[in-house]
Amino acid sequence: MATAIRIDGKAKAAELSEKITAETAALARDHGIKPGLAVVIIGEDPASQVYVRNKQRRAAACGFHSVKHALPEDVSQEDVLALIDDLNGDDAIHGILVQLPLPGHLDEGAITQSISPAKDVDGFHAFNVGKLALRQPGLRPCTPRGVMSLLHYYGIANRSMHAVIIGASNIVGRPMALELLLTGSTVTVSHRFTRNLEDHVRSAELLISAIGKPGIIDSEWIPRGAIVVDVGINRLPDGRLVGDIDFASAAQRAGWISPVPGGVGPMTITMLMKNTVQSAKQFAGLA
Ligand code: NAD
Repeated sequence: MATAIRIDGKAKAAELSEKITAETAALARDHGIKPGLAVVIIGEDPASQVYVRNKQRRAAACGFHSVKHALPEDVSQEDVLALIDDLNGDDAIHGILVQLPLPGHLDEGAITQSISPAKDVDGFHAFNVGKLALRQPGLRPCTPRGVMSLLHYYGIANRSMHAVIIGASNIVGRPMALELLLTGSTVTVSHRFTRNLEDHVRSAELLISAIGKPGIIDSEWIPRGAIVVDVGINRLPDGRLVGDIDFASAAQRAGWISPVPGGVGPMTITMLMKNTVQSAKQFAGLA
C-alpha cells in the first residue's frame, strides 16, 4: 500500500530559521536595528513554561533582543495592562506575546486586545484578524501561517481545492479558514456542533485537524491521496505526544501528512520569529 509523503515541518522550520537569522544580522549591519520580542508569562503552568523557554531560545538563536516578563499567578488585570502599555511604548520592542492560557481571573480578550496591533506578533488582535479577513494580511496568526508556508513549500497549496478544517478556535481554525480562502480554496469549517463529521472528512482534498483530542477522526474516512495536516498536540497518559490523527494508519491513505511532533509545531514558532522581523522592519520603514 502507498505511504504518504511526510510533511517535514522540523526541516522546513530549520531552513527558515537560518534565513531569519541572516536577515536579522543584515538588519543590524545595514540599519542598526535589532528585532525585539517581549514574552509575558503569568503563573506556573508547566506547558506554558516550556513554550516560553522554546520561544526565548529561538529568539536568542535568531539574534533578537529578547525579554521575558514573568508575573505571579495572582497578578491583577490592571498590572498586566500596565506592563503591556509600557511594552507598547518601548522602542526596543517590536513584538509582544502574552502566553496563553491565562489564569481564570484575568480577561484574556481584553489583555490580547491591549497589545498594539503593530506589535501583535501572535496575530490575535482584532485589527490583524480583520486585515486577514479583508484580504490585506498584516501580522498573521502564526499557526495558520505556518501551515500555509508548509503547503507552499511542498507545492500543494492548490487553488480550488476543498479544504476541511476541524476546529473553529480563534487561534487556529478560524484564521486557517481565512488563509485558505485567500489562496482560493473552498473551505468547510467543522466543530463540536457539526453533524456528520465523517461526511465532511470524506469530501476533503485538504484535511486540517485542530481539535486537541485524539480518536475523533477515523483514518478510514480520509480520502485516498488527501493532504492531511495535523495541528493537534495531545499528551497521552504514558507521556507520549501525539496529534489528533493516528499517523500510521492515516499515512496509508493520505498523499501527504504532517507528523506530531515535527510537523506544524516547529513552524508556529518560526512564524513568530518571522512576524517579529516583519514588525521591526515596519517600525523602521523598511517593510
Ligand atoms: P480549542 O479547544 O480552542 O478548539 C478546539 C476546536 O475543536 C473547537 O472549535 C471545538 O469545537 C472543536 N472540537 C472539539 N471536539 C470536537 C469534535 N468531537 N468534533 C469536531 N470538532 C471538535 O483548541 P485550539 O487552541 O484551537 O487548539 C487545538 C489543538 O491544536 C490543541 O491540541 C492545541 O494544543 C493544538 N495547537 C497546536 C499548535 C501548533 O503549533 N502545532 C498551535 C496551537 C494549537
